[in-house]
Amino acid sequence: MDKCSFCGRSRGEVNLLIAGVSGHICDSCTKQAFDIVNEEIKRDDKFKLSEIKLLKPQEIKKFLDQYVIGQNDAKKILSVAVYNHYKRLAQNTLNNDVEIEKSNILLVGPTGTGKTLLAKSIARLLHVPFTIVDATVLTEAGYVGEDIESILTRLLQAADYDLAAAERGIVFIDEMDKIARKGDNPSITRDVSGEGVQQGLLKLLEGSIVNVPPQGGRKHPEQKMIPVDTKNILFIAGGAFEGIERKIAQRLNTQMVGYAAAKEVEQIDKENLLQYIAPQDLRSFGLIPEIIGRLPVLTHLDPLDKKALRDILTEPKNSIIKQYQKLFEMDGIQLSFDKKVFDYIVEKAIEFKLGARGLRSICEAIMVDAMFDLPSQKNKEFMVTINFAKQKMEQANVQRLKIA
Ligand code: ADP
Repeated sequence: MDKCSFCGRSRGEVNLLIAGVSGHICDSCTKQAFDIVNEEIKRDDKFKLSEIKLLKPQEIKKFLDQYVIGQNDAKKILSVAVYNHYKRLAQNTLNNDVEIEKSNILLVGPTGTGKTLLAKSIARLLHVPFTIVDATVLTEAGYVGEDIESILTRLLQAADYDLAAAERGIVFIDEMDKIARKGDNPSITRDVSGEGVQQGLLKLLEGSIVNVPPQGGRKHPEQKMIPVDTKNILFIAGGAFEGIERKIAQRLNTQMVGYAAAKEVEQIDKENLLQYIAPQDLRSFGLIPEIIGRLPVLTHLDPLDKKALRDILTEPKNSIIKQYQKLFEMDGIQLSFDKKVFDYIVEKAIEFKLGARGLRSICEAIMVDAMFDLPSQKNKEFMVTINFAKQKMEQANVQRLKIA
């Protein structure tokens, strides 16, 4: 009797039995096989190493330009670091004798200036698994909070548990400044949690085999650990390092004393001291030297001025305004804006000290009624005028915006 060679059911038990050269397959096994194939293809496509074209630094920067406004120094340095990282991966397979060391990256800049966005955009470019972790929730094992290994659990999850993909992924460690040791002198102030977390992170940053609980946490003590090699994982750390300008200024002042340096002092741009950041400033801030050594690529982000905020609204490939237009387009409505509205939104973001993050909540306050009403109306065009925007903003709960 004919039977499905996969599930063993007979012709009478299935809807359809397809004959092959030396066996049969039923309709439900065909469907299952089809799903498996699709799943595998999708997975392969997502993180395939061979798919990665080795873009030149200038091309990487061009890609970043599509998503991130300004921050040219950071983009340039990041582009080179990523290029070298991928050269390094390529070299691993060639077995060369000059080993290129990993260059993890530290981005220092005020909050909401694009640090996470830069890291995210890089991951998008490279088609590698990407995860964001907050350094403040990490503690040493035994303390309340998450273990250092949980960082890699998240990366594994982002990679759909494809270990090889995870091992060349990117981890963005946010709020790196929050685990700095408080106080300059380690013998006077012993801040266990900060320094302990830094020590723990070292192991990950420098490249070693770490046993990772696939489900994370200590809730599943029975789970089998997965050994993850962090050698090729690129770590990008970011933080505001509030107050580090003072350390930079101090250093610059001591360096500049003396008659000969007097001229150079005048050239220092006191408004943006972050651009002079150097590893020793991080040390004064409270990062341990070993950590600083493992984050050799150091760069800064500039504060966003009016023009930058205005550009963020409209210029990036998936800018906020383009997203609203897309949403309306799906209802067949053509959405346009009076240009003055953009300046108004930027003014409000500055007035409420919301920075780039606030642009979206302000837009949302202006647009919510239109998004509610228009889909049920016949209008096929809608123009957001300055009066409309002002009126909606006046009705909005500003207090709520400020928290957002
Ligand atoms: P942080 O520096 O705190 O990591 P983010 O990268 O998370 O800041 O920025 C918050 C949001 O603000 C982003 O999602 C993005 O919409 C916007 N944004 C911030 N900086 C820029 C920038 N330079 N270019 C484009 N958008 C930006």
